[in-house]
Amino acid sequence: MWKSLSLRASYETYVRDISIVFLLLLPLTICNAMSVFVGHFLNFSDFPEIAKKFFYFSDLLIGIYPTALSVITTYYLSTKHNVSPMVVVPYALVMFIAVSLSNGLVAPHTGLPNNPLVALLTAIISAGCCVSFRLYPLDPSRIDFVSSLYKQVAHFFGFLLLTLLLTKLTGEVIESSKLVQQDMVLNPLTVSGGLSYQLVLGLLGAVGINGHNFLFTAKQQLFADTQQNLAAWQAGDAPLNILGQGFYDAFMSIGGSGNSLALLICILLFSKDRRHTTLALSAIPLVMFNINELLLFGLPIIFNPTLIVPFVLVPLASFIVVYSAMYLGLVHPVSTIVDWMTPPFVSGYLATNNSVGGVILQMVVIGMGVMIYRPFYLNYSSSARGDTRSIFRKHELEQSTLKSFVGDVSQAMRGYISKHDVSRRVSKMLSSGEFVMFYQPQVHLKNSSHLAFESLVRYKDEEGRLMPPVFIQDFMQLGAIKQLDRMVIELVLADMNKLPLEAGCKVGVNVSAETIADPSIVRFISRRLESYQVSPGALEIEITEEAILENHEQISANIDALQALGVTVAIDDFGSGYASFPHLLKYNFDKVKLDRSLLLNTHEERGQNLYQLLAKISEVTGCALVAEGIETSEEKAFVEQCGIDICQGYYFAKPMPLEEAVSWASGIASK
Ligand code: C2E
Ligand code: MG
Ligand code: MG
Repeated sequence: MWKSLSLRASYETYVRDISIVFLLLLPLTICNAMSVFVGHFLNFSDFPEIAKKFFYFSDLLIGIYPTALSVITTYYLSTKHNVSPMVVVPYALVMFIAVSLSNGLVAPHTGLPNNPLVALLTAIISAGCCVSFRLYPLDPSRIDFVSSLYKQVAHFFGFLLLTLLLTKLTGEVIESSKLVQQDMVLNPLTVSGGLSYQLVLGLLGAVGINGHNFLFTAKQQLFADTQQNLAAWQAGDAPLNILGQGFYDAFMSIGGSGNSLALLICILLFSKDRRHTTLALSAIPLVMFNINELLLFGLPIIFNPTLIVPFVLVPLASFIVVYSAMYLGLVHPVSTIVDWMTPPFVSGYLATNNSVGGVILQMVVIGMGVMIYRPFYLNYSSSARGDTRSIFRKHELEQSTLKSFVGDVSQAMRGYISKHDVSRRVSKMLSSGEFVMFYQPQVHLKNSSHLAFESLVRYKDEEGRLMPPVFIQDFMQLGAIKQLDRMVIELVLADMNKLPLEAGCKVGVNVSAETIADPSIVRFISRRLESYQVSPGALEIEITEEAILENHEQISANIDALQALGVTVAIDDFGSGYASFPHLLKYNFDKVKLDRSLLLNTHEERGQNLYQLLAKISEVTGCALVAEGIETSEEKAFVEQCGIDICQGYYFAKPMPLEEAVSWASGIASK
């Protein structure tokens, strides 16, 4: 069950991803089709020189297509997985170009890499490598710039080795695929070979692989043989073959592979699903140039067990009908190789020596295609619509609309943009303004001469405006929170010498999850204590509950080591999250800080009972207790009545800059 669910989920992810990538490339494809169209029009209107320019554009776009596919796939995958494309795209290009050049997978005229399958594969591998190592764009203003640089250089070197391996592997695959092709004896110039050729094209297309690329050698041979036959026929040396490149282009892929125009008409005529109709309407301009990606990936046809059958069947049936019509002399055999992007009917006319018979034959083929597609499409569409309780069906249907693709793309972009914003904000904070520490007193009710503060970080911008620690999330997201924590520890230790430590003053420092689980943090703290000449007993480390959900052994070892140094350790925000009590048993805290949210419920009896119960923790665990967030005299009275001695909150004092904290401390001392 789980296996099939995850298989289904991967299938849906694949279909969605590949559809989005091809949709992002559509402008290129459409411009290519338009260039061919305008080129033909100009040729027809006797402007061959200008026509050449448009054919040149078309060649250029076809040449650049696999590289653009590599870049767009990489861009899409990296934004989807929250890694910057600025990092991943160079990786993908290196791998794509290296694998293609070493294995001769290049276009003959331009020398550009020409295999879309290799483009997809290398993009996926590169994105996978960068995602798993979470590589961020290098930013000289970041504290970890140098270490990131080394990390990326090491990673890139490893990646080059992987590229070497993939180059070798691709070479092997090409060799064995040549053998497979030889074994298949695909000779599209014979009836049986042609039917097999068409069957293989259909099956490959049904799993999202462009068969024309896979069967490149057979296709090249077909093109050369066809041209030879046409030349011989024109010279009067040989009869015109029925089977040839033009036969397949003009009659086997009307509207794109699988004679997709038939499916499009079928949807427009019989669909009761508004979303499918919208999709078909949006696909018309493309299908008219034999580009069927929108249907192929949008409906989808690929990996769709119901629609794959007619997708493979229709060209086979068309083959038999067209071949029979030409064999019986009803229609002139194909005498011109018309560009594959030439619109249906125009192609039928031009291919068959400018005969209307070719157009009628295309119409017959399309009509037959509609009849074959119809039962399969209706079955697919009714099962998709009927089973609306099934979340997957519904999901699948929703995935199939253009709107949802566009939604996915823009969501992916938003993720990238927000990450980019975070990185910009943090870089700005690190390069301008400064971080300063504020101190909030912890008041001992029974012994007012006892001094303790909690340090709280603030950011002061260039104009002196203060910002509360809302930026901590940004640092976390960028993986820079450990650097921030270490900087805070330095700032606090530097400040501490101005506080009356000799009078027993203690200062608490908040640290994040990553820092307390860091194996080198204890050594860092002990060294910094030494260099600032601060007694370990004056320092307290506050750990929030969510911080200690993972990596228990290391955290436990760090807490013990800190305590062995003489540093005390507090659990912060106790009661605000879950799993509070197990943590108390697992780790040896010196102090428990009860979260303000617990206090907010004490206007009710149940809340009061809970607070009173928690106040007994110190009796059981021996930890000191702090009531956080005391704002009113009633709250103070309540916690006092619960037996809690240490309080922190606006009622006593707000967090204040060091100078004020120093005078607060001297005020307490003079009392
Ligand atoms: P926290 O450690 O629980 O800190 C107490 C927070 O409660 C502080 O907010 C403080 O200003 C606020 N507070 C104190 N008394 C009252 C009160 O009576 N009423 C109310 N409503 N709030 C009160 P602040 O400074 O905005 O800090 C928020 C959180 O950010 C801290 O919660 C802590 O988890 C984190 N943080 C602050 N400074 C640092 C730091 O230097 N490093 C790290 N890693 N985290 C920090
Ligand atoms: Mg705290
Ligand atoms: Mg707290």
